[in-house]
Amino acid sequence: EQFLKALPKVELHAHLNGSLGIDSLRDLAERLNGSASDKFLELCFIRSEKDLDACFETFTFVHQLTSSPDGLRYATELAVRDFAHDNVQYVELRTTPKATANYSRREYLEIVIDAIIGARKKYPYIMVKLLPSINRAEPVDVAKETVSLALQLAQTHPDLILGIDLSGNPAKGRFSDFAPTLAKAREKGLKLVIHCAEINNPLEVKEMLEFGMSRCGHGSFLTMEEIKQLKERNVPVECCLTSNIKSGTVSSLKEHHLKRIMEAGAPKVICTDDSGVFDTTLTRELLLATETFGLTREDCIALTLEAVHHSFASDQERKKMVETVVNYAASLL
Ligand code: IMP
Repeated sequence: EQFLKALPKVELHAHLNGSLGIDSLRDLAERLNGSASDKFLELCFIRSEKDLDACFETFTFVHQLTSSPDGLRYATELAVRDFAHDNVQYVELRTTPKATANYSRREYLEIVIDAIIGARKKYPYIMVKLLPSINRAEPVDVAKETVSLALQLAQTHPDLILGIDLSGNPAKGRFSDFAPTLAKAREKGLKLVIHCAEINNPLEVKEMLEFGMSRCGHGSFLTMEEIKQLKERNVPVECCLTSNIKSGTVSSLKEHHLKRIMEAGAPKVICTDDSGVFDTTLTRELLLATETFGLTREDCIALTLEAVHHSFASDQERKKMVETVVNYAASLL
């Protein structure tokens, strides 16, 4: 575990509001409300197995703490702090711009961007990028606004906003309704990460794979044929073990599709999804993969280098990350 903790890790699938650990949530609640009730904090976590709908309910509690500019700003800083404390050297945070009584979707993104720039100074070890999310449970017009904002803000922050995520409750909304908006984002240079095959919906998976993506979120219900297709296109599956177990989409760690993906020699990255809500860390996810599938230290280093390769960082940033990992590996010899 010490080896994994100290490994300079790379996190490619992390939802901002899901990434606040218990201490951060407490800090946030205390700052906003003067105190944090344990009862409320408990509502922000999933301890045992729940169904997907129950998992999505959990986010509504965390969202209460980030519904003001101050709460959102501080939450962003705390999420970066939590990843930095876990020795994550690079994180692509994704988040759904929301409009509340206190901010518009544009202001939401501006606050997050501002907070990330501040956090970069405070935690210089970690590189942070942003992928605005489309919530498929919301109307297509909202998705259009999100893409338009992402494109505008990417002009002023080209080293920060790198892509668009499609997420939200997979039982809601239809992919085909969002495809034209996603296509526009891609045409204008944004990368696409798409939650795909999180639940069993073969027709939608087919549509998504035909449409294409840079990385596939979850992929729990991909067939071997589909895994091979992704391999041919060098599209990695973002595997989130604890998340899949706690939300009940995968029945046990041993049955996790990471095994099939590794056996097929297909690309994969290990990610947390929502390290706060699911009470985990990237160190812990790598440890679970190691314990379940008998990975060696070399395998974990290779997985980290694979994540560097599939990140949306610039060539120069990727070179730096590879160096950091290689130096770490060399220091162990
Ligand atoms: P936020 O976008 O920063 O508010 O992060 C929380 C949101 O991410 C949730 O409300 C969902 O829309 C989305 N999300 C988090 N985890 C998952 C997942 O496993 N599948 C699909 N969407 C998710």
